[in-house]
Amino acid sequence: APFTLQDLALENQFANLPAHFFTHLSASPISQPYLVAASKTAADYLHLDQACLNTPEFVSYFSGNQGIPGSKPLAAVYSGHQFGVWAGQLGDGRALLLGGLSHAGQHLEIQLKGSGMTPYSRMGDGRAVLRSSIREFLCSEAMAGLGIPTSRALCVIGSDQMVFRETPETSAVVARIAPSFVRFGSFEHWYYNDRMDDLRLLADFVIEQSFPELLDHANKYQTLLAEVTRRTAELMAHWQAVGFMHGVMNTDNMSILGLTLDYGPFGFMEAYDEKHICNHTDQQGRYSYRMQPAIGNWNCQALAQALSPLIGSVEDTNAALACYPTSYRNKWSELMHRKFGLNTVQDNDLDLFADFFKLLQSNQADFTLSFRNLSKLSNQISTKDEALRDLFLDRQGLDDWLVHYRARLAMEGSNEAGRHTSMLASNPKYILRNYLAQVAIEKAQNKDFSEVEKLLQILENPYDEQEENEDYAALPPDWARHIEVSCSS
Ligand code: AMP
Ligand code: MG
Ligand code: MG
Repeated sequence: APFTLQDLALENQFANLPAHFFTHLSASPISQPYLVAASKTAADYLHLDQACLNTPEFVSYFSGNQGIPGSKPLAAVYSGHQFGVWAGQLGDGRALLLGGLSHAGQHLEIQLKGSGMTPYSRMGDGRAVLRSSIREFLCSEAMAGLGIPTSRALCVIGSDQMVFRETPETSAVVARIAPSFVRFGSFEHWYYNDRMDDLRLLADFVIEQSFPELLDHANKYQTLLAEVTRRTAELMAHWQAVGFMHGVMNTDNMSILGLTLDYGPFGFMEAYDEKHICNHTDQQGRYSYRMQPAIGNWNCQALAQALSPLIGSVEDTNAALACYPTSYRNKWSELMHRKFGLNTVQDNDLDLFADFFKLLQSNQADFTLSFRNLSKLSNQISTKDEALRDLFLDRQGLDDWLVHYRARLAMEGSNEAGRHTSMLASNPKYILRNYLAQVAIEKAQNKDFSEVEKLLQILENPYDEQEENEDYAALPPDWARHIEVSCSS
C-alpha cells in the first residue's frame, strides 16, 4: 500500500556526510498556507497515497510549517560557474532537503524550495514567488509527461506572505522530488576549495546512492564522469527535440543525474529561431537554444576538471568526457528519426532534417505545431497538407522539401498509419507555452487555481489528441508575443 501521511518516515542520507557539507535548519514558518496545486502522478512516483494531497496535514508538512517524522532538514553547500564565470560559494539559498523515501528499490528525496533563509541565502530572502513556483511546478510535470528526465514537483503551497521582487508579490513553497539534488557545482565546491578528501567523500556518496553499479569498476570516478557526461548529452538532445530552453545552465543548476533541474526563466520554442534566448537577463545568448548542446559539454568539462584529481590522469579524464559529442549526436539522431517518422537510418537523413529546420527558421514557424502537423501528413499529396502549409509563408519551399520527405518515406516503404501513430507519440501537441502559464498564474494570484489544475491535466498527456482542449494547442495570441521572463523568481 502507498505511504500515508500517518506512516511517513523520512530518511536523510545526505545528512550522513560530514557536517560541513550542509547546515541543519528548519523551514521558516509561512503564514496561513494553502494548497495551490498537487500532482497525483508525482504522488504516485513517490508512492504517496493520492488521498492525502488535499488534507490540512499535507499543507502543513509541505509548506514546511510542520516537520515530517524522520526528516532532518538541511541546506547543502555547493558552488558553481555562473554564465561561464567562477562564482564561488552558492548553496541552497532557499531550499531544504527534508530527506527521502524508499520504495521498491528506489530512493527519492524531497526538497522544499522557498522555505526561508539559510546560511547560503547571500542577498536573497529565502523565498520564492507564486509566479515562479507555479512555473516550476507545471514545467516539471510537463517534462515528465513528455518523457524527459526531470526533477518532479509534488505540490505548490501558497501564502499571502509578501515578498519583494520588482513589485510586491505573494510567496509559495514547491515540494520537489528527485533521487538526488547533487549538482555539478557540489563537486566544484570541494575541488576549488582544495578539499580533495571531501571531494572523494561526495563522489563516493553519489556513487553509493545513485550509481551503485559503478562500485566495483576499476576507475569508478572515471566511469562516473563518463556516465554523467552521457546522460547530460542525452538530456540536451531531449531538450532540443522539444524546443525546451532552460535559460540558466550554470553548473550549479546541472544535475549529477542528468535531470532537468532548477526551473527558472525557461521557455519552449514557439516561432522557431535557433538563436532564441528565453532568459531576458542573458543578453549575450550564452544559453540560447542553439547553444545548449555546446554548453552542456562545457558544463561536463567543468565537472571533469573537478573530478580530475580523483580520476588520476588527464588522459583518463578526457577519455571519459570524449563520449559527449557521440552521445549527443546519437540521441539527437534517434529522436529526430522518431520525430520525422523514419524507421531506418539513411545517408542523407541529417540533411533532410537540417533542411526542415532551415524552413522553420526562415518562416519562423511554430516548432511544436509544425512537427505535430507533419505527423498527420499523408504519404501522398493531399488536402491534409494544408494544416502544415498554413504555418509556412514560403509554401513553395515547404512543398519542395515535402517532395524529398515523401521520397524518403517511400524509400523505406513507410506505412502511413503506423507512421502517424509513432510520430504522434513523438511530437507533442501540448507544451507549456509562456502565455498559458501566464494566464494560469494571473488566475492563481486571484485565488482561482482551476487553470493550474487544467494545465497540469493537459500537460500530463501531451501526446494525446484531447480534442476538447484544442485551444491549448493553438498558436499564442498576439498579446503573448512579448512576454519576458527573467531570473527574478
Ligand atoms: P539560481 O540562479 O536560481 O539557480 O540561483 C543561484 C543561487 O541563488 C542559488 O544558490 C540559490 O539558492 C540562490 N537564490 C536564488 N534566489 C534566492 C532567494 N530568493 N533567496 C535566497 N537565495 C536565493
Ligand atoms: Mg539554482
Ligand atoms: Mg533557481
